[in-house]
Amino acid sequence: MTTPPLFKRIALLGIGLIGSSVARIARERADIAGEIVANARTQATLDRVMELGFADRVELDPARAVAGADCVMLCAPVGAYEALAQTIAPYLDPGCIITDVGSTKQSVIRDVTPHVPAGVHFVPAHPLAGTEYSGPDAGFTTLFQGRWTLLTPLPGTDPGAVEKISELWRRCGSMVEAMEPAHHDRVLAIVSHLPHLIAFTICGTAEGLEEESRAQVLKFAASGFRDFTRIAASDPVMWRDIFLNNREALLEMLQRFTEDAQAMARAVRWGDPAYIEHRIQQGRAIRRSLIELKQA
Ligand code: NAP
Repeated sequence: MTTPPLFKRIALLGIGLIGSSVARIARERADIAGEIVANARTQATLDRVMELGFADRVELDPARAVAGADCVMLCAPVGAYEALAQTIAPYLDPGCIITDVGSTKQSVIRDVTPHVPAGVHFVPAHPLAGTEYSGPDAGFTTLFQGRWTLLTPLPGTDPGAVEKISELWRRCGSMVEAMEPAHHDRVLAIVSHLPHLIAFTICGTAEGLEEESRAQVLKFAASGFRDFTRIAASDPVMWRDIFLNNREALLEMLQRFTEDAQAMARAVRWGDPAYIEHRIQQGRAIRRSLIELKQA
């Protein structure tokens, strides 16, 4: 017997790397949604979505995209969520679940919750999976396989709605855990947002070198710089929005990092091999733990 789909119709507002990966999975397995509707900011993206063939229907107007949907997933950059939530609110059916995939959670709750109509459920979520590529061509069906998705539901949220979104992510191949929104933002600040800030900054530092040294940086990039450039290739709008919407936690982690970097600088300046070696050992231990947890 085939499992019935979790949702009659899912509307994906934003159909880039994350939205199109969800759509591709929903297309491949019939137990997520009976119908897949995609929305983007531009018609060019929607034309491409139709060519790629993972949506049943595309709609340029978010209001038309959500009409009749029992699941609406916000998959645009987090800075766009408030306007989107305001636009779609009058067109949501009672019982519909709004969820999202945004990389910050306190800001998303702040921006979306005031617009959620009575009888509509809101379950914020964040799949911890991604690549440096964006747009509808970038998605793939195994993106969430073995990765975590964090849900940050507010107290009092309908448990049935939370369970349906958990099940959606499990069917996408993800492991699911609930977390407090503020805790989510602190954890993500250190595991994702700060590393991106450092990658963008180090590439900027290299760019600022005099021409001759810059040419050598590119030529000999394999020495370590290359790994930063992969992260730094990520979408500027998405990352601008993340930095501005997780400001406090990101600045706190940056402050801690700066203090630790200063301590390392002092050890290098005064020739403290024990300190330097200890710090490098800590890095190696973290890498080993990641490999053991299959998150490397
Ligand atoms: P993406 O590939 O750049 O796609 C973004 C999509 O949102 C596009 O379809 C775009 O439409 C649409 N969009 C952009 N601005 C919009 C606006 N103002 N109103 C409505 N739609 C708009 O982005 P992504 O990587 O999938 O990221 C989407 C969300 O997932 C973000 O909130 C991000 O924080 C979160 N996330 C990303 C990753 C990652 O590694 N990439 C991982 C986890 C979570 P057009 O193509 O027409 O411009």
